[in-house]
Amino acid sequence: MGIETAGAAAVPRRSQRRFKQVREVIDALRHGTRRNTRRLAAKREVKQLSDWKDQVEVMVHHGKISVPYSWTVGSTLSKWYVLMRDKGEIWANRCPSCGKVYVPPKIKCNDCYKDMNDWVKLPGTGILESYTVVHYSEPVIQPQEPPIIYGLVKMDGADTAMVHLMGEVEPEQLMVGMRVEAVMSEEREANIFDIRYFRPSAGGEA
Ligand SMILES: [Zn+2]
Repeated sequence: MGIETAGAAAVPRRSQRRFKQVREVIDALRHGTRRNTRRLAAKREVKQLSDWKDQVEVMVHHGKISVPYSWTVGSTLSKWYVLMRDKGEIWANRCPSCGKVYVPPKIKCNDCYKDMNDWVKLPGTGILESYTVVHYSEPVIQPQEPPIIYGLVKMDGADTAMVHLMGEVEPEQLMVGMRVEAVMSEEREANIFDIRYFRPSAGGEA
């Protein structure tokens, strides 16, 4: 059925408006760009969606919902976790193209998109690049009661830094650039808490 033969006078006014809208889109397709068409349709939709607000008192309830979720860690992180659990060691992987060393490991290099099949064992020491102290409680997402210290640790032999808990240290003792070392958990379950935390190392300040 062609739009031109729809017989505008024979159909209700509402349908006429609808035909007009369709015709506008067809015209835009014929004479304009696809972008113009999308913009035209979006503009009309926004107007239709916002019309109702002129006629009602908008009442809003602010709430929060808990949304637990799970996802597979994939082959690369699985290998990393198993090495931590079974050997108590922290490994990284290295890009075969640019040589960048990632910990936690990546399946692809962020820069080159190459497969990361070259694994290197790290000594478990590093430098505290930044930190923050959390004083409020958020039981769903926080691993322990506050105060919690999160540190950004750049491990020796790696080019990336990772966030983890800091332990055996008071907040006032923390310094950016201080030497730290990983403390592995005694009971390891192949997850990020197989590293119990990072603590200041005997080497002291970097
Ligand atoms: Zn690379």
